[in-house]
Amino acid sequence: MGINQKMMGLGKKRSVIREIFEYGNKRKAQIGADKVFDFSLGNPSVPAPDCVNQTIKELIQSESSLALHGYTSAQGDAGVRRSIADYVSKTHGVEVSADNLYMTVGAAASLTVSLNAIAEPGDEFICFTPFFPEYRVFVEAAGGSLVSVPSRTSDFQLDLEALEKAVTENTKGVIVNSPNNPSGVVLTEESIAGLCSVLKRKSAEFGAPIYLISDEPYRELVYGDVKVPYLLNYYDNTLVCYSFSKSLSIPGERIGYILVSPTAENSADLYAAVCGAGRALGFVCAPSLFQKVAGRCVGQTADVSIYKKNRDLLLSALESYGYRCIKPDGAFYLFVESLEKDAYAFCEKAKEFELLLVPADDFGCPGFVRISYCVTTEQIQNALPAFEALAKAYKN
Ligand code: PLP
Repeated sequence: MGINQKMMGLGKKRSVIREIFEYGNKRKAQIGADKVFDFSLGNPSVPAPDCVNQTIKELIQSESSLALHGYTSAQGDAGVRRSIADYVSKTHGVEVSADNLYMTVGAAASLTVSLNAIAEPGDEFICFTPFFPEYRVFVEAAGGSLVSVPSRTSDFQLDLEALEKAVTENTKGVIVNSPNNPSGVVLTEESIAGLCSVLKRKSAEFGAPIYLISDEPYRELVYGDVKVPYLLNYYDNTLVCYSFSKSLSIPGERIGYILVSPTAENSADLYAAVCGAGRALGFVCAPSLFQKVAGRCVGQTADVSIYKKNRDLLLSALESYGYRCIKPDGAFYLFVESLEKDAYAFCEKAKEFELLLVPADDFGCPGFVRISYCVTTEQIQNALPAFEALAKAYKN
């Protein structure tokens, strides 16, 4: 019929999160924005750190317009990549160079480019529940198929036995996302070490590398003294898909990178495949100005103490009302067990209390809901009576 039906379907189908967000906008127009408690979107609510605007001003003053806004090399400005490589090497005790880095327009592009760099027809990619729903879109568009492996629902750490059963000769890669969207869970060193041990054994058994794709836009958003293990220290065949969207609160600026481990098998060829996929997909030369901002601000973060404050407030209140919550050590999402089996029905009920929550079915976890707490602390405070009333409605 002339156009790609699959793409048309993707374009026409709005995500559940978007549906709820649109509903929220309509409802706010009806009853007032302060009466609707919208916990649907994962848009950072803390401003970018000063270094972002400061750097933009300095760059505008110090660089010629042509240099600032012109094309960089396809894989990104060499100085920017050097600066990020130095930071990563120092911070995580690894040795990476500019030649291992490919600048992208955020984690979404990092994932698509990485998947296209390694996927061949018939390949399977494993992810763990709950997972970012776009993984299915990205994997299928790269010609692969997505296999989801359930995590332990007690704490949402990895179920290594389930993983072991899911890995086959067709497994080309495993996607991990820690801190996790939508659960906020940070994978422990034990989970990571266990995962890597299974993958090393299976790679050797099948005589082919299984790649680890680490989707980590929330790496710096962790609370307390929780550590997020750096995968290059555990597994050679790793591609890190990083984004500055959340760490610097600049999601609309679209900037991130892919780091190809220098110790990956045939690392130079893998990096060439990343460059090739970037070229084939048209993801060359990420925005020049924000490459430079990222290069200068790497290591800085927005004030994450605000997210911690929100988490503490929401978690302790919801637990006191009787909700079963998964304690989030990172990101800005709280994962809560639905008070009825059908999380969609529960979210509909929540709307009666002007609470906008997201059912986790699309994240591969029916029976749970996601609450995004990247909102003002005031919104959380004002919403608490509604959460309490919702819990009471189920008790009665
Ligand atoms: N991966 C996960 C788990 C996310 O939550 C997001 C955005 O929310 C992305 C990838 C995409 O990030 P970006 O905006 O940097 O493309």
